[in-house]
Amino acid sequence: MSPEFRDAAVQVTYLVASVLFIFSLKWMNSPQSARRGVWAGVWAMVLGVGGTLLNPAVAVSSLPWIALAVMVGGLIGVPLSKVPLTAVPQRTALSHAFGGLAAGLVGTAKYYLWLHEGGANLTTFRMFAISAEVILGFLTFTGSLMAAGKLQEILPGRPITYRGQLIINFLTLGGAIACATGLIINPQWFFLFPPLVILSLAFGVMLIIPIGGADMPTVIALLNAYAGLSAVAMGFVLDNTLLIIAGALDGSSGLILSIIMCKAMNRSFSNVLFGAFGSAQEAAGGEEGKTVKSASAAEAAEIMGQADTVVIVPGYGMAVAQAQHRVRELYDQLTKRGIKVKFAIHPVAGRMPGHMNVLLAEADIPYDDLIEMEEINPEMPQVDVVLVLGANDVVNPAAKNNPKSPIHGMPIIEADRAKTVLAVKRSMKPGFAGIDNELYTMDKTLMVFGDAKAVVGDMAKALAGDSGMH
Ligand code: NDP
Repeated sequence: MSPEFRDAAVQVTYLVASVLFIFSLKWMNSPQSARRGVWAGVWAMVLGVGGTLLNPAVAVSSLPWIALAVMVGGLIGVPLSKVPLTAVPQRTALSHAFGGLAAGLVGTAKYYLWLHEGGANLTTFRMFAISAEVILGFLTFTGSLMAAGKLQEILPGRPITYRGQLIINFLTLGGAIACATGLIINPQWFFLFPPLVILSLAFGVMLIIPIGGADMPTVIALLNAYAGLSAVAMGFVLDNTLLIIAGALDGSSGLILSIIMCKAMNRSFSNVLFGAFGSAQEAAGGEEGKTVKSASAAEAAEIMGQADTVVIVPGYGMAVAQAQHRVRELYDQLTKRGIKVKFAIHPVAGRMPGHMNVLLAEADIPYDDLIEMEEINPEMPQVDVVLVLGANDVVNPAAKNNPKSPIHGMPIIEADRAKTVLAVKRSMKPGFAGIDNELYTMDKTLMVFGDAKAVVGDMAKALAGDSGMH
């Protein structure tokens, strides 16, 4: 194959891969086409790697090294794909860490390679791209590792703050930018490169430590954007259009996702990045002096059995308990009796956007019965029974009624407006935001204490007329 032909083949492969990446994102927007979207992404990646191998610049002698890297990547990647859905945010953070590290290392390797060749290739534009790639890549690497550690509870989730933190952070980033500027002015000032790397790595750590574990999913979406931007810079360094396009898609989708999450929680970027409800769980307990009424699973099932409409509000607790299949059984029992059952989906219920949709789809719950917050809220006063299933913050009326609440202004599912509320959770402990929930002490609310999977299983059995309760 002539080099010209190979070059043309590479460009065509990259073009097809870019189109597939774009369609992949589009198809992943809807549950009906999401599977196709995943496959489009897989094939785009295969074409991207395959196209790169075709590139005449890839020496045959490099192939064993590439094969080794693919094997090491596979050994790390396959177990990572098997984590439970609740651990997906930290898994995603690890992927970004690897992406950032790869970008940072490629930038570093290219700088030293071109410097060694005399520096003619280190044009101002390339030096600018290398600097952006190294700063964004390395800060994404350490920042994502910190975020994953906090979410996995290997590192303390609480924000770590100290005096003058903001100034030290700005000085660290400023130092990295100063080194980069020096290198852009004169690429031969190689002594500036190691501090550029070290300051970028340090900034990643310092950026994340003052943020509470509770805000990590949003921060991870932001780190996604940084990883994407470092890939764009890498694309300019390597003169690779596919990397530029895929990086831009990655960067912009990360940014859009973090904006969606901030909106759904009524928070601003600065509020997430510079503090707020980081000290989650510390305000636990509370609600003293208020009476809590509780019921057994069988009693709750009987109440639901009398209803015309039941709205189930799933939350993080349903996800950790893996209760979705029991929920399906309950859904079947209720619909069999002619009761209208709907699911009220809050955009940030659980720990990542779409978390509830994925779990309920896994249990084959009809997608048409999943109703978005804005659509279900006006119907709430007509709803006979709301079953809050391991959800807490997303149904907390304080978001509407208490201007002093840290979640004030966050849009909620208005479960408190339904005729009767049944709430399934294990205790009176607060949720993610670490604040009490007055919904649980309302007159119309009955708590059903226990693990969501066991409780909902018992409810379904009670409705089925089975006496073999847990
Ligand atoms: P919450 O974290 O507010 O509450 C979950 C509740 O589930 C807890 O109160 C807990 O109570 C209960 N629970 C835990 N385990 C079980 C179990 N095994 N069985 C039964 N109940 C259980 O969850 P929500 O879904 O209401 O809210 C999500 C929160 O996450 C929001 O604050 C949101 O802002 C935040 N967030 C979400 C993101 C997203 O993209 N989805 C991103 C970033 C943040 P108990 O311990 O008593 O059982």
